[in-house]
Amino acid sequence: MAQAQKITPRAKDFSEWYGDVIAQAQLADYSPVRGCMVIRPHGYRIWELMQRALDDMFRASGHRNAYFPLFIPMSFLAKEAEHVEGFAKEVALVTHTRLRATGKEGAGAIAVDPTSELEEPLVVRPTSETIIYAMFAKWIQSYRDLPLLLNQWCNVVRWELRTRLFLRTTEFLWQEGHTAHADEAGAEQEARLILGIYRRFAEEWMAMPVITGAKTESEKFAGALRTYAIEALMQDNKALQAGTSHNLGQNFAKAFNVQYQTAGGGLEYAWNTSWGVSTRLIGGLIMTHSDDNGLVAPPQLAPVQIAIVPIWKTDDERSQVSGVGSQVKADLEKAGLRVELDLRDTMKPGAKYFEWEGLGVPVRLEIGPRDLASGQVVLARRTGGKAPVPLQGATAAVTRALDEIQQALFAAARERREKNSIRGATKAQFLEFMKGGGGFAYGGFCGSPTCEAEIKTQTNATIRVLPDPEFRSKEVPKQCMWCDAPSIAEAVWAQAY
Ligand SMILES: [Zn+2]
Repeated sequence: MAQAQKITPRAKDFSEWYGDVIAQAQLADYSPVRGCMVIRPHGYRIWELMQRALDDMFRASGHRNAYFPLFIPMSFLAKEAEHVEGFAKEVALVTHTRLRATGKEGAGAIAVDPTSELEEPLVVRPTSETIIYAMFAKWIQSYRDLPLLLNQWCNVVRWELRTRLFLRTTEFLWQEGHTAHADEAGAEQEARLILGIYRRFAEEWMAMPVITGAKTESEKFAGALRTYAIEALMQDNKALQAGTSHNLGQNFAKAFNVQYQTAGGGLEYAWNTSWGVSTRLIGGLIMTHSDDNGLVAPPQLAPVQIAIVPIWKTDDERSQVSGVGSQVKADLEKAGLRVELDLRDTMKPGAKYFEWEGLGVPVRLEIGPRDLASGQVVLARRTGGKAPVPLQGATAAVTRALDEIQQALFAAARERREKNSIRGATKAQFLEFMKGGGGFAYGGFCGSPTCEAEIKTQTNATIRVLPDPEFRSKEVPKQCMWCDAPSIAEAVWAQAY
């Protein structure tokens, strides 16, 4: 299990801390393939729990899962001009299909068989709009076929030069939803519906508060009409784009000839949306809640919600505490909770506590002979605090504690975000803010890409979103925070992952 390594404190080096937390919790590791990660069982379990929750929400709103090929003919990517521009610099290509033995020794023993060159190279999907809409063109004939609401869970490849576990890797796992609608209103409604689902998932499952809003022209998805995003603020005051939902307009429908017969007998292009969240969310979860002792997993997504650690000295005590431990475990499991009973006799209780802490387990139950004599067990919270609870009724106490921890994590993260946000900043205040560590800076925006580009060059901050009404400041900014020209919308700037 986890080695008792020291975690670099957040205040000393956030990036080192992040890597240490991942190593200690055994969430993921770098692979022999540069830029690609191995997701280890504890990390993969978080992903499975995320998948299940999201998948239920997608299904409940009428979406169905399907699967499309990993390979996309290169010519498909060229069909939508902005799209190819956006992905051209980061695609992996398959150009040959065979190797041959050379008769040489060592690394040169095999080589690419030049006779196996493909007539048309295949792109390893960086995203699947093109292949999916090529299929939609076959499936959609009439207005009766609409809306078409699909999702797929898969991997994608975007060739990254600088990688970081979960946040930016060459291959990552995600879901991508793809839908077709009869009109713009249908597509817009869908894009917003999904944004709402992403927000609910981030806040209710991950306990990660987010701001919702629209991306600017320069930040939107390649080929989209409009891009919406959820943005969260990490503990180092950098923003994390945690999910995006795009109204693609008719751009892809025109490129792939997705046309349908209207009720009146006319021919129209469909309107599409696409939307996705990825294993990046795990990075967001880590950077939102974890501390200098390691991972803090919100109870809703914790692979293990309760670790039961019996304490004994003699064999008699061992059989007593482990018997009670088994019973408590069974009761908790009956209540639908994820529990581990730690009966290893190769480790002292203190070392076990340390290990479960590093794995982010929200609640630990300590069961010792003295506690049992007084009919109680000790409930310790990963986020701090330890108190005895009656053995009878332990399930209720644990359930309540998990619920409180989930709420408290969300409240603490929201409070931290608000403490690290400024509103109505002047240019000077903004520069000072970004130099001093940053956060979310709300200010007026003139709409000019020149201002955006200048701000990015000087401060590394970008517009995360033009926030939705509920996040906007009470006082509407009248001027651009940067150039003083009239403001067209309030914007939220931050340095971002
Ligand atoms: Zn401006």
